[in-house]
Amino acid sequence: MPVDAKAAIDLLRELRALTADDNGAQRLAWTPVWLKAREWFLSKLHDLPVEHHYDAAGNSWTTLAGESDTTLILGSHLDSVPNGGWLDGCLGVMGAFAVLRRIAEEYSGKPPITVRLVDWADEEGARFGRSLFGSSAFAGTQTIEQDRDRTDAGGARLGDALLRCGVSIDSIGDAQRERKNAAAYLELHIEQGPVLESMDLPLAAVLGTKGVERHAITFHGQEAHSGSTPMNKRRDALAAAAKLALEIRTIASRHPDAVCTMGSIKTFPGIVTAVVGRCEATLDQRDLDAQILDAMYREAQEKSTQFAIEEGCTVEWSRIWNIAPEPFHPELIDLCEEAIYETVGRSHRMPSGPLHDAAEVSRAGIPTAMLFVQSLKGISHNKIEDTRSDHLELAITAFDRLASKAMRWIAKQGG
Ligand SMILES: [Zn+2]
Repeated sequence: MPVDAKAAIDLLRELRALTADDNGAQRLAWTPVWLKAREWFLSKLHDLPVEHHYDAAGNSWTTLAGESDTTLILGSHLDSVPNGGWLDGCLGVMGAFAVLRRIAEEYSGKPPITVRLVDWADEEGARFGRSLFGSSAFAGTQTIEQDRDRTDAGGARLGDALLRCGVSIDSIGDAQRERKNAAAYLELHIEQGPVLESMDLPLAAVLGTKGVERHAITFHGQEAHSGSTPMNKRRDALAAAAKLALEIRTIASRHPDAVCTMGSIKTFPGIVTAVVGRCEATLDQRDLDAQILDAMYREAQEKSTQFAIEEGCTVEWSRIWNIAPEPFHPELIDLCEEAIYETVGRSHRMPSGPLHDAAEVSRAGIPTAMLFVQSLKGISHNKIEDTRSDHLELAITAFDRLASKAMRWIAKQGG
């Protein structure tokens, strides 16, 4: 029985009409438009033999009970960034919904194992700066103490916004109960980058999410008059930072999937008539391999010290944030690649630079895989985010195949 990919795409268009304005999708988590999107989703369940509830962290669970309690979970997120695209997150939810419906019909409402669809709460963290909110509560990696007093741009507290949506921040850890019987997790998502388009491939199996090292780097030199200070007497903090900004390209280039970004530079005093006395920069480094990530971090530190000395400056580092790489399950990655190959005749494997809820699920020890579909021009988090509709259909078809393979894989493990 084939999955109805076209119906899923129609639902995506319906959701866009309901929750986007001229600037794009506005399904910001913990806001009325997001709640409206979730209500709309519930209205689509009425003819299916499923149970629905929200867990303690606000994740939305739709369960098709099977002969066995062992569970395959399919999911993604309905929330969006402000002025977001029409596919980020909701493609995964609507794709999973189409697959759930296909499974319900194929097995007359009772598949051999239980299949659940989850819409994670606040994947984007766009309003309060806390990404992967619901999936981290599910995984038990939530950070309530740090998050309780987070505020949005208007000064509203995260804890209060949650309460208005029926979620008590002190109880979100109870979402871990939903892990019971989970045997595998699958997520379909747009790539959000330009790699697949540049390779002329519609789909890829995701190897995992890259780890991130994010640091603030400050070079200290000497503020000095731009007219009176000879070139060879300067201690120019910007010169040292600029050397590092170019060096990180060399550091990243030694590894095929590594990326390094200096996204912010601030100079002090920052006026046209003074040599820069202090330069504050940020560095974001990512790779799927923890050893490579660590090596790149140490290399950037060593080079920054070298450049500081060359320019008569000093340098200090402080970590802003880091997260370990999360490789997905090797056997599920193989199944994902098989499903893609059977659907389009060619396949590819790639790591994900962006983080995803799937990384949290994998971190909780649940075998996980993700399937990417090409993003046009590699653009996401923007109203022009798009994917060819034939590619969307192929993606949902391949994801459906992957779900069937995962169900057999789970059954073989004694599920
Ligand atoms: Zn997303």
